[in-house]
Amino acid sequence: MDNSVEATEQEWRDRLEPEQFEVLRCSATEPAFSGFYWDCHDDGMYRCSGCGAELFDSDTKFDSGTGWPSFSAPAVAEAVETHEDRSHGMVRVEATCKSCGGHLGHVFNDGPGPTGQRWCINSASLSLDSNR
Ligand SMILES: [Zn+2]
Repeated sequence: MDNSVEATEQEWRDRLEPEQFEVLRCSATEPAFSGFYWDCHDDGMYRCSGCGAELFDSDTKFDSGTGWPSFSAPAVAEAVETHEDRSHGMVRVEATCKSCGGHLGHVFNDGPGPTGQRWCINSASLSLDSNR
């Protein structure tokens, strides 16, 4: 992991909202249809809520019906890292922010776009910047 943004656990607790801390630093998953962005259709750049790195463009966002913000691809491929995640008795691909190591969500191969990918991302990991 190439974490250019580093902080201690206490610094992250001070910096983040509790639900952001749970998702970004503890790999929690917010309940479906509960987050701020799953039904958001605003235009802009979704940045990491932990460090501000540009992650996903609203142009790649689509309605997956899952209750989480879903994207067909990252805006900047190098900004997002993927890892095999064998937690909860499943084999999934976890997506993390390369800059701060924060947990974003998971990647699935049932997306509608040319990549076939569905990046299923927690709202708590994202901050929409409408002035990209
Ligand atoms: Zn980040």
